[in-house]
Amino acid sequence: MAPRHSEAETGIIGGSGLYDFSALEEPSEYRLSTPFGEPSDRIVVGGLRGRRVAFLSRHGRRHQHPPSAVPAAANIYAMKYLGVTEILSVSAVGSLRDELRPGELVVPDQLVDLTRGGRTSSFFSSGLVAHLPFADPYCPRLRRLVLDAVRTVPGTVSHDGGTYVCIEGPQFSTRAESGLYRSWGMDVIGMTAAPEAKLAREAGICLATIALVTDYDCWRQGEESVTADLVAEVMRRNVAAAKQAITSYVDTSPPARHCDCHDALAQAILSDPSAVPDADRRRVDLLAGRYLDEHQPARD
Ligand SMILES: [Zn+2]
Repeated sequence: MAPRHSEAETGIIGGSGLYDFSALEEPSEYRLSTPFGEPSDRIVVGGLRGRRVAFLSRHGRRHQHPPSAVPAAANIYAMKYLGVTEILSVSAVGSLRDELRPGELVVPDQLVDLTRGGRTSSFFSSGLVAHLPFADPYCPRLRRLVLDAVRTVPGTVSHDGGTYVCIEGPQFSTRAESGLYRSWGMDVIGMTAAPEAKLAREAGICLATIALVTDYDCWRQGEESVTADLVAEVMRRNVAAAKQAITSYVDTSPPARHCDCHDALAQAILSDPSAVPDADRRRVDLLAGRYLDEHQPARD
């Protein structure tokens, strides 16, 4: 069965360790195809406390997509197609600060993109140019609500704000790089926040991230005694806390009917719509069609 365009309101993108969301009631699975390729995996849509929620595993349920190959544009497009207006993105991260301890949760407010340019980081390319404001990469409204939800999880320490530095990977950073990021004021490190957040903004979808601190990045000497078992145990507890936080969020915060993110494209398209080739127009019609229509010159 083909999904409806209003299939879900809230999207969840799960990172390492979060491959399913079994709390979804009466789940349906959709394998979607988009003008930007296929999403990481089937998207599971179901009910959660009366809300329609769409879940997608960022790396695929078998963790088959390395960070550089995560089809972020297809993932965000598919969420938009399903009607999603807000995404809770969950990511495992390394800590660059003493005070951000393994097992704690961070709701970042800033992002530095150090990926190497090989990822599709925009829906708009030749033929149709758009420049979006991205000073606040995470939706301030949703971020605040998610932070409130994270704080309700018993026994979990959470942190308000922080800068997520996104590296290309798949290797972890060198000790010199780790020290460099610290000197720049970065707080947590991961490999997938970009371009996901950029694409969500272009798609007019609010996005906030729950960053799960798995371990200290390599800057901290003396962490070699950390065992794989210990890291796995921290990740298991983190994922459980993230699931609780998401359920709490859904319980307490109905999706906003309007947020500035939803109209981020309104003033962003620079190309003359009448000069946009049909093929380029069709690719982004779901995302930008109404703005292009508004800009159509009046007929005589
Ligand atoms: Zn928003």
